[in-house]
Amino acid sequence: MQQTLKSSIELSGVGLHSGVNTLVRILPASEEEGRYFVRVDLPDRPVIPARVESVSQTTLSTELAKGDAKVRTVEHLLAALAASGVENARIEINNAEVPLMDGSAKTWTDAIASVGIEKAGGSQQEAGGQPQGISPTPDTPTPLQKPIYINEGDTFVAALPSSETRFTYGIDFEYSAIGNQWHSWNPDLESFVDAIAPARTFGFAEQIEQLKQAGLIKGGSLDNALVCSAEGWLNPPLRFANEPARHKLLDLVGDLSLLGKFPQAHFLAYKASHKLHVQLAKEIRSQIKQMPPTHGL
Ligand SMILES: [Zn+2]
Repeated sequence: MQQTLKSSIELSGVGLHSGVNTLVRILPASEEEGRYFVRVDLPDRPVIPARVESVSQTTLSTELAKGDAKVRTVEHLLAALAASGVENARIEINNAEVPLMDGSAKTWTDAIASVGIEKAGGSQQEAGGQPQGISPTPDTPTPLQKPIYINEGDTFVAALPSSETRFTYGIDFEYSAIGNQWHSWNPDLESFVDAIAPARTFGFAEQIEQLKQAGLIKGGSLDNALVCSAEGWLNPPLRFANEPARHKLLDLVGDLSLLGKFPQAHFLAYKASHKLHVQLAKEIRSQIKQMPPTHGL
């Protein structure tokens, strides 16, 4: 039984990197449609499936593309939808970047909770725009059969066969305000809404100027990102003692949601990035693809 939203959501805000105010409308979608973006500001309203095959760039955020149509910083919204059980959603957006909101996924999970979710209808879609080539999503998670490990220096991502689904994230920064911290989350035991969604984006005071000169973080501010310096946090208080580790875990959940449904596995990351998260998703995809069709993602 696949799920979608009971009714539509409409939210607007500023994109972290573009600084452009953007409107997002999330509409219910039929089963087997999956989650997908529609660039309603472009001619012919191009559809960009929220699938790992659509990833076009992973510098500081995850960007999806279909032809020339792009949408970046998709990870927090997609994490909120996937972790809330919204398997099918049509996400209409009138610009190229999902708004950052307060830097966490809380605005999205609150909006999803306010409309509720229900069983997705059959795939007889009334309005066009259904993406092609989206394979069925199984009702039960597919267990991962073999371990996957990808590293870059001392940073790594891994997926391990497991009797439960779990996400574990570790980070280590020289800044004493962050240091070495970990978080481990089991979706069956701890609510995403309470434990992960409120964790905000974080950055470093020393890097702000450099990133701005590179044309990035034009929409970043002390209202939508925790900023750390050698002296400590510029804008406390934190929502959790290990809020940065939880935020990285949120990013991992968003990037792995590009698989459609999470396989049953222990996902583990250490000092990783969107680039490694997406590489892990691709490796998982190639392993799962080799399994019988009824267990396909
Ligand atoms: Zn993030």
